[in-house]
Amino acid sequence: MDDAAPLEAENQHLRQQLQALLQEARANEEKMRRFERLEHRLIGAASLQELLQVLLQDYRQVFALDEVSLALVDGEQELARLLGAAQPAGLRLLPDAAALQRLHGETDLPQLGAFKPARHGELFAHVMASVALLPIRRHGRLIASLHFGSLDALRYTPDAGTQLLQRLAGILSVCLESALNQERLKLAGLTDALTGVHNRRYFEHRCLVEIAQARRHRHPLACLFLDIDGFKAINDRHGHAAGDVVLRTVGQSILGQLRAGDTIARWGGEEFVALLPQAGQQQAREIAERIRGRIAAQAVAASEQPIAVTISIGLSLLGHDIAGREPGQLAQDLLAAADQALYRAKREGRNRVVADSA
Ligand code: GH3
Ligand code: MG
Ligand code: MG
Repeated sequence: MDDAAPLEAENQHLRQQLQALLQEARANEEKMRRFERLEHRLIGAASLQELLQVLLQDYRQVFALDEVSLALVDGEQELARLLGAAQPAGLRLLPDAAALQRLHGETDLPQLGAFKPARHGELFAHVMASVALLPIRRHGRLIASLHFGSLDALRYTPDAGTQLLQRLAGILSVCLESALNQERLKLAGLTDALTGVHNRRYFEHRCLVEIAQARRHRHPLACLFLDIDGFKAINDRHGHAAGDVVLRTVGQSILGQLRAGDTIARWGGEEFVALLPQAGQQQAREIAERIRGRIAAQAVAASEQPIAVTISIGLSLLGHDIAGREPGQLAQDLLAAADQALYRAKREGRNRVVADSA
């Protein structure tokens, strides 16, 4: 009888098991390396856009997921403003944390398991087989929720380990907060703190962009210079603080009456400037008249007695004959013409709209 045969068989079996373990260890090591590489890219992302790209696209590719989505709380709609048309697929902005609270409850742990249409349907664009849902908290507050979806039912099972996912959630919470703060700072640098409308720096940049657009698409571009009448007297009579309220009210009133593609900025002091793309002479005059009329009709409740406020508006249009001219020079001319028209509006008695005659 040959006693060696069963021993050899067992030995072979053990060797196979060892091979399998080794392979798993190598695969884990490789997975860990890929994970760390992405982690570094998350930490190194230079902007919110880049961070979202790493998260929503690169994670999906590198880990062969079928879907990745992120829900972000955006109570002040800052993000919606910041990202504008550049909102990546897979990102959803929420007005508050209520939906995330319902999804995650009080837990800090990722939830892994089968896809349930009623519960997970709105987190993904398609039907998945298994999902991992990560609550992202900052100082205990839910700020976001990250969702991984797979068509493989065994990819995420309730008993699987969640260490890596927890680590990702921790890192992401810090990266997100830092990217959001950075974007807020950028926005603050382009916003006038008192009135909440854009500042002159933003306007000067935007003016060049709008002139280039108007030239390329051959559509009109109107410019308004708006100046509060007798503002010095308002300050003198009601105090500087009441003057500030008047400024803010006027700025917000102008903002509220413009279209989404228009630009309004505080030029300085009690002067505002607006750009109206695709508005010809007639339409720009109507818009200016409406703004003027609305402000004149509504006294501002900034002190004990309401303060009557009027504004004067100068209007200019980008010329037709602009093909070979430099945008910086065109911008200067456009503004100078609106300023001249404003000066005439003041001389002719204030509380009126005057168009540049050129
Ligand atoms: P006009 O009808 O010709 O435009 O007269 P005006 O008094 O509005 O114009 P003027 O340029 O003589 O005065 C502007 C005033 O705006 C003077 C300045 O103290 C005031 N001002 C500028 N910036 C601010 C601000 O941030 N807050 C307040 N409260 N006042 C400001
Ligand atoms: Mg004034
Ligand atoms: Mg002025």
